[in-house]
Amino acid sequence: MIRPYLREKGAFAIGEYPEGTAFTAGYLTSRNGGWRSERPVIDISKCVMCSQCYLHCPDGTIFELETEKRYAIDYDFCKGCGICAKMCKPGAITMIPEGTA
Ligand code: SF4
Ligand code: SF4
Repeated sequence: MIRPYLREKGAFAIGEYPEGTAFTAGYLTSRNGGWRSERPVIDISKCVMCSQCYLHCPDGTIFELETEKRYAIDYDFCKGCGICAKMCKPGAITMIPEGTA
């Protein structure tokens, strides 16, 4: 559903509004993940491509690398909330403190 106040203010054209839970990664133009204290790291060997991380990320920072058929995370916008790690039942996503490898 399109929020009326956005329509009135003309913040987005109708076609630009996300149909899912979030915009696709890279929609925002200003990096805003700098205050993150932890970051999610995907272990590709455990990933079963169930898309739960992609569907539940509130910032739309998880995207599919189509050429490699795997998910990746845009750290310029990831806030480190950890929802993706919680939703990943195979345990493919680990939250690690920023500043570590
Ligand atoms: S930690 Fe939060 S913002 Fe970052 S990719 Fe996971 S769900 Fe998205
Ligand atoms: S939730 Fe986990 S297993 Fe599913 S696509 Fe994301 S990283 Fe892969």
